[in-house]
Amino acid sequence: MRILARYWTKLEDGKVRCELCPFRCILKEGQTGVCRVRKNIGGKLYTLIYGSVSSMAVDPIEKKPLFHFHPASEVLSLSTVGCNLRCRHCQNWEISQVGPEFLYLKEMTPEEVIQIARNYEGIAWTYNEPTIWHEFTVDVSKMAKKEGLYAVYVTNGYINEEPLRELARYIDAMNIDVKAFSEDFYRRITGGSLKPVLHTVELAHRLGIHVEVTYLIIPELNDSKEEIEKFAQWVYSISPEIPVHFSRFFPMYKLTDKPPTPVKTLHMAYEIAKNTGLEYVYLGNTWEPEYESTYCPQCGNLLIQRVYYSTHVVGLTRDGKCKRCGKKINIVL
Ligand code: SF4
Repeated sequence: MRILARYWTKLEDGKVRCELCPFRCILKEGQTGVCRVRKNIGGKLYTLIYGSVSSMAVDPIEKKPLFHFHPASEVLSLSTVGCNLRCRHCQNWEISQVGPEFLYLKEMTPEEVIQIARNYEGIAWTYNEPTIWHEFTVDVSKMAKKEGLYAVYVTNGYINEEPLRELARYIDAMNIDVKAFSEDFYRRITGGSLKPVLHTVELAHRLGIHVEVTYLIIPELNDSKEEIEKFAQWVYSISPEIPVHFSRFFPMYKLTDKPPTPVKTLHMAYEIAKNTGLEYVYLGNTWEPEYESTYCPQCGNLLIQRVYYSTHVVGLTRDGKCKRCGKKINIVL
Protein backbone atom coordinates (compact mmCIF):
# COMPACT_ATOMS: atom_id res chain seq x y z
CA MET A 1 0.00 0.00 0.00
CA ARG A 2 1.32 3.44 -0.92
CA ILE A 3 1.46 6.28 1.61
CA LEU A 4 3.59 9.41 2.01
CA ALA A 5 6.96 8.43 3.49
CA ARG A 6 8.64 9.91 6.55
CA TYR A 7 12.25 11.13 6.57
CA TRP A 8 12.89 12.90 3.30
CA THR A 9 13.75 16.36 1.99
CA LYS A 10 12.44 18.25 -1.04
CA LEU A 11 15.21 19.33 -3.42
CA GLU A 12 15.23 21.49 -6.57
CA ASP A 13 13.62 20.42 -9.87
CA GLY A 14 11.14 18.01 -8.27
CA LYS A 15 13.87 15.82 -6.78
CA VAL A 16 13.75 14.41 -3.25
CA ARG A 17 16.38 13.02 -0.90
CA CYS A 18 15.42 10.08 1.30
CA GLU A 19 16.90 10.43 4.80
CA LEU A 20 16.01 6.99 6.14
CA CYS A 21 19.27 5.11 5.55
CA PRO A 22 22.91 6.01 4.88
CA PHE A 23 22.47 5.83 1.09
CA ARG A 24 20.48 9.08 1.20
CA CYS A 25 19.17 8.35 -2.31
CA ILE A 26 18.48 11.43 -4.41
CA LEU A 27 15.50 10.55 -6.59
CA LYS A 28 14.08 12.27 -9.66
CA GLU A 29 10.39 12.09 -10.49
CA GLY A 30 9.45 8.42 -11.01
CA GLN A 31 12.70 7.01 -9.56
CA THR A 32 12.80 4.36 -6.82
CA GLY A 33 15.53 4.09 -4.17
CA VAL A 34 18.17 1.37 -3.82
CA CYS A 35 15.75 -0.48 -1.53
CA ARG A 36 13.14 -0.68 -4.35
CA VAL A 37 10.30 0.38 -2.04
CA ARG A 38 10.53 4.20 -1.77
CA LYS A 39 9.61 6.26 -4.80
CA ASN A 40 9.46 9.88 -5.93
CA ILE A 41 5.94 10.50 -7.17
CA GLY A 42 5.11 14.07 -8.11
CA GLY A 43 8.03 15.52 -6.16
CA LYS A 44 7.12 13.71 -2.94
CA LEU A 45 8.59 10.55 -1.45
CA TYR A 46 6.23 7.63 -0.97
CA THR A 47 6.70 4.25 0.64
CA LEU A 48 5.14 1.62 -1.59
CA ILE A 49 4.88 -1.08 1.10
CA TYR A 50 2.93 0.29 4.07
CA GLY A 51 1.11 -2.78 5.42
CA SER A 52 2.33 -5.00 2.56
CA VAL A 53 3.23 -8.35 4.11
CA SER A 54 5.26 -10.99 2.23
CA SER A 55 5.43 -13.57 5.03
CA MET A 56 4.07 -14.14 8.49
CA ALA A 57 5.01 -16.95 10.91
CA VAL A 58 5.31 -17.76 14.59
CA ASP A 59 8.84 -18.43 15.84
CA PRO A 60 10.62 -18.99 19.11
CA ILE A 61 12.45 -15.75 19.95
CA GLU A 62 15.68 -17.81 19.99
CA LYS A 63 15.39 -18.14 16.21
CA LYS A 64 16.02 -14.43 15.64
CA PRO A 65 18.51 -15.05 17.37
CA LEU A 66 17.76 -13.23 20.63
CA PHE A 67 19.00 -15.31 23.56
CA HIS A 68 18.79 -12.73 26.37
CA PHE A 69 15.32 -11.38 25.68
CA HIS A 70 12.15 -13.08 26.93
CA PRO A 71 13.65 -16.57 26.58
CA ALA A 72 11.33 -19.32 25.33
CA SER A 73 8.67 -16.84 24.22
CA GLU A 74 6.75 -17.08 20.96
CA VAL A 75 6.85 -14.16 18.58
CA LEU A 76 4.77 -13.22 15.55
CA SER A 77 7.27 -12.62 12.73
CA LEU A 78 6.53 -10.43 9.72
CA SER A 79 8.32 -9.27 6.61
CA THR A 80 7.75 -7.28 3.46
CA VAL A 81 9.93 -7.03 0.33
CA GLY A 82 13.11 -5.16 -0.59
CA CYS A 83 16.37 -4.36 1.16
CA ASN A 84 18.85 -1.50 1.22
CA LEU A 85 21.83 -3.91 0.97
CA ARG A 86 22.74 -6.37 -1.79
CA CYS A 87 24.42 -9.21 0.14
CA ARG A 88 25.72 -11.84 -2.23
CA HIS A 89 24.93 -14.52 0.36
CA CYS A 90 21.42 -13.35 1.31
CA GLN A 91 19.35 -16.20 2.78
CA ASN A 92 16.06 -14.55 1.93
CA TRP A 93 16.86 -13.13 -1.49
CA GLU A 94 13.47 -14.20 -2.91
CA ILE A 95 11.83 -11.47 -0.84
CA SER A 96 14.73 -9.08 -0.19
CA GLN A 97 15.95 -8.61 -3.74
CA VAL A 98 12.61 -7.79 -5.34
CA GLY A 99 10.28 -4.82 -5.30
CA PRO A 100 6.57 -4.89 -4.41
CA GLU A 101 5.53 -5.43 -8.05
CA PHE A 102 7.09 -8.92 -8.15
CA LEU A 103 5.38 -10.73 -5.31
CA TYR A 104 1.87 -11.27 -4.07
CA LEU A 105 1.67 -9.22 -0.88
CA LYS A 106 -1.09 -9.37 1.67
CA GLU A 107 -2.24 -5.88 2.64
CA MET A 108 -2.77 -5.56 6.40
CA THR A 109 -3.70 -2.73 8.74
CA PRO A 110 -1.82 -2.21 12.03
CA GLU A 111 -4.98 -3.29 13.87
CA GLU A 112 -5.09 -6.60 11.98
CA VAL A 113 -1.47 -7.34 12.88
CA ILE A 114 -2.07 -6.52 16.53
CA GLN A 115 -5.14 -8.74 16.64
CA ILE A 116 -3.03 -11.74 15.59
CA ALA A 117 -0.06 -10.75 17.74
CA ARG A 118 -2.23 -10.81 20.88
CA ASN A 119 -1.98 -14.61 20.77
CA TYR A 120 1.79 -14.38 21.31
CA GLU A 121 4.21 -12.34 23.39
CA GLY A 122 5.53 -9.95 20.80
CA ILE A 123 6.20 -8.97 17.21
CA ALA A 124 9.43 -9.47 15.27
CA TRP A 125 10.24 -7.43 12.16
CA THR A 126 12.46 -9.91 10.38
CA TYR A 127 13.27 -12.04 7.27
CA ASN A 128 13.86 -8.93 5.13
CA GLU A 129 15.27 -5.58 6.29
CA PRO A 130 12.76 -3.80 8.55
CA THR A 131 14.49 -0.41 8.27
CA ILE A 132 12.94 0.14 4.85
CA TRP A 133 9.47 -0.67 6.30
CA HIS A 134 9.90 2.09 8.85
CA GLU A 135 6.46 3.70 8.75
CA PHE A 136 4.51 0.48 9.24
CA THR A 137 6.87 -1.08 11.79
CA VAL A 138 6.77 2.06 13.93
CA ASP A 139 2.98 2.40 13.79
CA VAL A 140 2.41 -1.26 14.70
CA SER A 141 5.15 -1.37 17.36
CA LYS A 142 3.67 1.73 18.99
CA MET A 143 0.32 -0.06 19.27
CA ALA A 144 2.05 -3.24 20.45
CA LYS A 145 3.56 -1.38 23.38
CA LYS A 146 0.13 -0.21 24.52
CA GLU A 147 -1.03 -3.86 24.39
CA GLY A 148 1.86 -5.05 26.56
CA LEU A 149 3.52 -6.84 23.63
CA TYR A 150 7.21 -6.48 22.87
CA ALA A 151 8.61 -5.53 19.45
CA VAL A 152 11.99 -6.52 18.04
CA TYR A 153 14.03 -5.77 14.91
CA VAL A 154 16.32 -8.24 13.14
CA THR A 155 18.33 -5.79 11.12
CA ASN A 156 21.41 -5.01 9.08
CA GLY A 157 21.77 -1.80 11.09
CA TYR A 158 21.78 0.32 7.94
CA ILE A 159 19.69 3.19 9.27
CA ASN A 160 20.26 6.87 9.96
CA GLU A 161 20.39 8.33 13.44
CA GLU A 162 17.10 10.22 13.49
CA PRO A 163 14.85 7.30 12.52
CA LEU A 164 16.82 5.06 14.88
CA ARG A 165 16.10 7.47 17.73
CA GLU A 166 12.41 7.25 16.87
CA LEU A 167 12.58 3.43 16.80
CA ALA A 168 14.15 3.36 20.25
CA ARG A 169 10.85 4.56 21.71
CA TYR A 170 8.96 1.50 20.43
CA ILE A 171 11.48 -1.26 19.67
CA ASP A 172 12.57 -3.22 22.74
CA ALA A 173 15.36 -5.35 21.26
CA MET A 174 17.46 -5.67 18.14
CA ASN A 175 19.62 -8.35 16.69
CA ILE A 176 22.04 -6.44 14.48
CA ASP A 177 24.22 -8.10 11.85
CA VAL A 178 27.84 -7.03 11.75
CA LYS A 179 28.64 -8.89 8.57
CA ALA A 180 32.41 -8.43 8.76
CA PHE A 181 34.85 -6.03 10.35
CA SER A 182 36.20 -4.47 7.16
CA GLU A 183 34.97 -1.79 4.79
CA ASP A 184 36.32 -3.83 1.90
CA PHE A 185 33.96 -6.74 2.70
CA TYR A 186 30.98 -4.43 3.04
CA ARG A 187 31.73 -2.73 -0.27
CA ARG A 188 32.33 -5.95 -2.24
CA ILE A 189 29.81 -8.34 -0.67
CA THR A 190 26.96 -6.15 0.62
CA GLY A 191 27.06 -2.97 -1.45
CA GLY A 192 27.05 -0.93 1.78
CA SER A 193 29.54 0.34 4.33
CA LEU A 194 30.61 -0.88 7.77
CA LYS A 195 30.87 2.43 9.63
CA PRO A 196 27.13 3.27 9.82
CA VAL A 197 26.41 -0.26 11.08
CA LEU A 198 28.88 0.13 13.94
CA HIS A 199 27.30 3.47 14.77
CA THR A 200 23.86 1.83 14.90
CA VAL A 201 25.05 -0.84 17.35
CA GLU A 202 26.67 1.77 19.60
CA LEU A 203 23.73 4.17 19.49
CA ALA A 204 21.05 1.49 19.91
CA HIS A 205 22.87 0.24 23.01
CA ARG A 206 23.16 3.80 24.37
CA LEU A 207 19.47 4.45 23.72
CA GLY A 208 18.56 1.51 25.94
CA ILE A 209 17.49 -0.98 23.27
CA HIS A 210 18.47 -4.53 24.21
CA VAL A 211 21.13 -5.35 21.58
CA GLU A 212 22.57 -8.67 20.43
CA VAL A 213 25.03 -8.92 17.54
CA THR A 214 25.36 -11.61 14.87
CA TYR A 215 28.55 -12.19 12.86
CA LEU A 216 28.23 -14.75 10.05
CA ILE A 217 31.67 -16.24 9.45
CA ILE A 218 32.41 -16.91 5.76
CA PRO A 219 35.56 -18.82 4.76
CA GLU A 220 38.31 -16.56 3.33
CA LEU A 221 36.13 -13.45 3.40
CA ASN A 222 35.83 -12.47 7.07
CA ASP A 223 37.28 -15.42 9.03
CA SER A 224 40.78 -14.26 9.90
CA LYS A 225 41.91 -14.33 13.51
CA GLU A 226 42.88 -10.65 13.28
CA GLU A 227 39.49 -9.54 11.96
CA ILE A 228 37.58 -11.50 14.59
CA GLU A 229 39.86 -10.13 17.32
CA LYS A 230 39.18 -6.56 16.17
CA PHE A 231 35.45 -7.27 16.09
CA ALA A 232 35.48 -8.78 19.60
CA GLN A 233 37.52 -5.87 20.99
CA TRP A 234 35.10 -3.39 19.47
CA VAL A 235 32.08 -5.15 21.07
CA TYR A 236 33.96 -5.25 24.38
CA SER A 237 34.58 -1.49 24.15
CA ILE A 238 30.80 -0.92 24.03
CA SER A 239 29.96 -3.52 26.68
CA PRO A 240 31.26 -7.01 27.52
CA GLU A 241 27.64 -7.91 28.32
CA ILE A 242 26.39 -7.66 24.72
CA PRO A 243 25.54 -11.20 23.55
CA VAL A 244 27.44 -12.18 20.39
CA HIS A 245 26.31 -14.89 17.96
CA PHE A 246 28.88 -16.30 15.55
CA SER A 247 27.04 -18.12 12.82
CA ARG A 248 28.09 -20.76 10.33
CA PHE A 249 27.89 -19.94 6.62
CA PHE A 250 26.45 -22.26 3.98
CA PRO A 251 26.72 -21.52 0.23
CA MET A 252 23.77 -19.38 -0.80
CA TYR A 253 22.37 -17.17 -3.57
CA LYS A 254 25.33 -15.63 -5.43
CA LEU A 255 27.99 -16.82 -3.00
CA THR A 256 28.31 -20.47 -3.91
CA ASP A 257 32.07 -20.62 -4.49
CA LYS A 258 32.86 -20.79 -0.75
CA PRO A 259 32.47 -23.99 1.31
CA PRO A 260 30.47 -24.16 4.55
CA THR A 261 32.44 -22.69 7.44
CA PRO A 262 34.53 -25.37 9.19
CA VAL A 263 33.25 -25.87 12.73
CA LYS A 264 36.79 -25.38 14.03
CA THR A 265 36.72 -21.81 12.71
CA LEU A 266 33.59 -21.18 14.76
CA HIS A 267 35.34 -22.63 17.83
CA MET A 268 38.32 -20.34 17.19
CA ALA A 269 36.02 -17.30 17.07
CA TYR A 270 34.35 -18.42 20.30
CA GLU A 271 37.72 -18.68 22.09
CA ILE A 272 38.86 -15.29 20.78
CA ALA A 273 35.67 -13.60 21.95
CA LYS A 274 35.77 -15.24 25.39
CA ASN A 275 39.46 -14.43 25.82
CA THR A 276 38.70 -10.82 24.91
CA GLY A 277 36.34 -10.75 27.87
CA LEU A 278 32.94 -11.02 26.18
CA GLU A 279 30.58 -12.62 28.66
CA TYR A 280 27.95 -14.19 26.41
CA VAL A 281 29.16 -15.84 23.20
CA TYR A 282 27.15 -18.31 21.12
CA LEU A 283 27.60 -20.39 17.99
CA GLY A 284 24.79 -20.74 15.46
CA ASN A 285 24.22 -23.48 12.86
CA THR A 286 26.70 -25.86 14.50
CA TRP A 287 24.03 -27.61 16.60
CA GLU A 288 26.20 -27.97 19.69
CA PRO A 289 24.05 -27.35 22.79
CA GLU A 290 27.06 -26.36 24.93
CA TYR A 291 27.67 -23.41 22.59
CA GLU A 292 24.00 -22.41 22.58
CA SER A 293 23.36 -22.42 26.31
CA THR A 294 23.90 -19.50 28.68
CA TYR A 295 26.32 -19.77 31.59
CA CYS A 296 26.96 -17.34 34.43
CA PRO A 297 30.11 -15.38 33.50
CA GLN A 298 31.05 -15.21 37.20
CA CYS A 299 30.60 -18.78 38.50
CA GLY A 300 29.90 -20.87 35.37
CA ASN A 301 26.43 -21.99 36.53
CA LEU A 302 24.10 -23.13 33.73
CA LEU A 303 21.47 -20.40 33.45
CA ILE A 304 19.54 -21.25 30.28
CA GLN A 305 19.74 -24.61 28.58
CA ARG A 306 19.12 -24.64 24.84
CA VAL A 307 18.98 -27.76 22.75
CA TYR A 308 18.05 -26.75 19.19
CA TYR A 309 14.96 -24.59 19.76
CA SER A 310 14.01 -26.15 23.06
CA THR A 311 14.82 -23.63 25.79
CA HIS A 312 14.72 -24.05 29.57
CA VAL A 313 15.51 -21.32 32.06
CA VAL A 314 17.12 -23.32 34.86
CA GLY A 315 19.57 -21.16 36.82
CA LEU A 316 18.05 -17.67 36.95
CA THR A 317 16.02 -15.93 39.64
CA ARG A 318 12.87 -14.07 38.59
CA ASP A 319 14.78 -10.78 38.65
CA GLY A 320 17.52 -12.09 36.35
CA LYS A 321 20.28 -13.06 38.77
CA CYS A 322 22.37 -16.22 38.85
CA LYS A 323 20.75 -18.57 41.37
CA ARG A 324 24.15 -19.78 42.55
CA CYS A 325 26.28 -16.63 42.95
CA GLY A 326 23.76 -13.77 42.62
CA LYS A 327 25.41 -12.04 39.65
CA LYS A 328 23.01 -9.78 37.75
CA ILE A 329 22.76 -11.10 34.19
CA ASN A 330 22.13 -8.91 31.14
CA ILE A 331 18.75 -10.38 30.32
CA VAL A 332 15.19 -9.14 29.79
CA LEU A 333 12.72 -11.63 31.30
S1 SF4 B 1 15.70 3.75 2.57
FE1 SF4 B 1 15.75 3.25 0.38
S2 SF4 B 1 15.31 5.14 -0.69
FE2 SF4 B 1 15.83 5.67 1.42
S3 SF4 B 1 18.03 6.14 1.36
FE3 SF4 B 1 17.84 3.99 1.92
S4 SF4 B 1 17.92 2.85 0.01
FE4 SF4 B 1 17.55 4.98 -0.53
